[in-house]
Amino acid sequence: MKIELEGLTKRIPGTGDFISIDNLKCNNCERCLFVCVMSLWRKKEGKVYLAEDYQSKCLECAACFQVCDPGAIMFKYPVGGTGIVIEKG
Ligand code: SF4
Ligand code: SF4
Repeated sequence: MKIELEGLTKRIPGTGDFISIDNLKCNNCERCLFVCVMSLWRKKEGKVYLAEDYQSKCLECAACFQVCDPGAIMFKYPVGGTGIVIEKG
């Protein structure tokens, strides 16, 4: 399945889990909430979590991974041939 968003083509099948959080390492700084332009990080009852549908919306910018000082966020690029494709024009 493909999702077309202005200039973006998203291929979902096979993307797999490429981001996860270790809440035992999270210090609740909320940097990931602020830095994610797609607002995929949430906080509920003091616990930070990633939106369930992140795979279809994530821009794979790795910003959340970069700002997480305690290393609570694990990020890897989706397996080859899956994930986001940015097309211009
Ligand atoms: S950036 Fe890392 S430590 Fe800070 S709230 Fe997000 S997951 Fe937790
Ligand atoms: S990689 Fe970028 S778009 Fe995806 S969850 Fe992290 S900050 Fe948001």
